Amino acid sequence: METKIVYVIDPEEFYETYEISNSMLDYVSPKDEFHICRYCSSPNAKFKSKAHLLPEFTGNKTLFCYNECDDCNKKFGLYETNLSAFSGIKNTFLPIKGKNKYPKFKSKSGDFSVQFQNDNKVIAKVDGNLECMKLENGILNIKATTQTFIPLYVYKALTKFALSMVEKSELHKFRKTVEWINEPEKKFDDNFIPLLLIHNESRPPIIKPIAFLAKRKIPCDSPQYTFIFGFGFHRLQIFLPFNSSDEQLKSEKIILPLNFHFVTQKVKNKGEWGFGHMDMNSLNRSQLTDDFKLNFKLENEIRS
Ligand SMILES: [Zn+2]
Repeated sequence: METKIVYVIDPEEFYETYEISNSMLDYVSPKDEFHICRYCSSPNAKFKSKAHLLPEFTGNKTLFCYNECDDCNKKFGLYETNLSAFSGIKNTFLPIKGKNKYPKFKSKSGDFSVQFQNDNKVIAKVDGNLECMKLENGILNIKATTQTFIPLYVYKALTKFALSMVEKSELHKFRKTVEWINEPEKKFDDNFIPLLLIHNESRPPIIKPIAFLAKRKIPCDSPQYTFIFGFGFHRLQIFLPFNSSDEQLKSEKIILPLNFHFVTQKVKNKGEWGFGHMDMNSLNRSQLTDDFKLNFKLENEIRS
């Protein structure tokens, strides 16, 4: 039986279907899971490093999980590296600091790099071919490919952030999901909800990340959980895969309500939407092309 996937972009429908279950605004690392890892439940787990709820490079400096052990934290680091590579060149134009410095984008050939500096400046270095970057009337047109990333790892990064927000009493439904994130190469192809990443990069950037987990509140043909994550220029939405209680959705049609306010809308408070989607169920090394414009004040304009 073929399953039809239907996106619903009506702004109301998302909130008619889902309610916020947890968000980075209310997040508190569960006390009863203190130094008990929810991903491996190893009795010998160590908790020397502080695990971030959302990666530092997305702008999170304050939220930590005390239920993620050092080994798991290290293992999941690979997914975060891939998410960072996926976010490409755009986010290097923002003052979002990583651990020690602002992230740097470097093109594969090494002839082009961009990095935000402390004094509110962006330094772009170009060697040779200027085709990728053109400055016209104070507008910088940039065309560059992202660093190489593995789509499935990006999806696992997002799923892991979502899992860290799931209530402990609900976690048993995600046994398969946990198994899947525990091994980078693990790929299940029997998921009836495709691993779709809904994304939108057409809105002004966010310096502090936005993340929330929403849970279905009415019986309907939509997955039980959806996760929304915005950082830098990215506004992303996924539906949590391999939830055992979604097995009942095996019907002809699966409805995916997209979040208008945080994800799909193009212009704030206007009924215009601008999003794309990607199937992330792939272990092939991939790159995307970033093509965008930035308004720049030229140094001599500032001085005069
Ligand atoms: Zn662990």
